[in-house]
Amino acid sequence: MKPLTQEQATRYSRHIMLPTMDWEGQEKLLASRVLLIGVGGLGCAVAQYLVAAGIGHLILVDDDKVELSNLQRQVLHTEHNVGEFKVHSAQARLQAMNSDCDIQTFTHRLNKAELIKLAGEVDLFVDCSDNLASRNLLNEVSVDSQTPLITGAAIRMEGQVCCFIPDSTPPSPCYACYSRLFGEQELSCMEAGVLAPLVGIIGAMQALEAVKLLSGVANVQAGKLMHFDAATSQWREMYIQHYDQCPICAG
Ligand SMILES: [Zn+2]
Repeated sequence: MKPLTQEQATRYSRHIMLPTMDWEGQEKLLASRVLLIGVGGLGCAVAQYLVAAGIGHLILVDDDKVELSNLQRQVLHTEHNVGEFKVHSAQARLQAMNSDCDIQTFTHRLNKAELIKLAGEVDLFVDCSDNLASRNLLNEVSVDSQTPLITGAAIRMEGQVCCFIPDSTPPSPCYACYSRLFGEQELSCMEAGVLAPLVGIIGAMQALEAVKLLSGVANVQAGKLMHFDAATSQWREMYIQHYDQCPICAG
């Protein structure tokens, strides 16, 4: 890890004064690499906090272009960006926020071989995708490559966050251990709607878990599912167990 420059020490001073973060935690953040799938509502919220917090390298993946109906909640995109790829619109805003962060973009959905290759280059997967195929594939590669995965989802008036940490003790569940219990969310925001600040809350929670995991500033619990009800503004916690016959992560 490289020591912080004087400018970085000033920029990240409110982090560094946290006793469990200190210089070392910030240096870890600056050395960390994150793959973020989806730059919609959740992805915009996650990315802005990761970049502001001092993540060193961020890879953004999304094949969508910005539409007018995205602007209600996807806060990195502006009216001028309608028609542009979301990853390009997001990259410009994020780079203006923190030019130190190295940002790489992909405008197509990554196949398994591409994900496996990138898994060897990153410390964490953050899933902000809006479709099951992407989420299931990312989970498979997370398990195979032992790369931690933070998933988030938000629809209508409800959202949730869960962290899967493949090499943890006791064994972490994976996304498939979770989805066998709760079913898989087939609806998208396009079909069902979503309340604007809800995606910010869930995305910020994903960013919080990511910063904790990457810096070591606090412990992250694998399999802890945090569910938020926007109608009552209440959080609930559940603990997902590792399923010993899971077709993805068992054995
Ligand atoms: Zn599993």
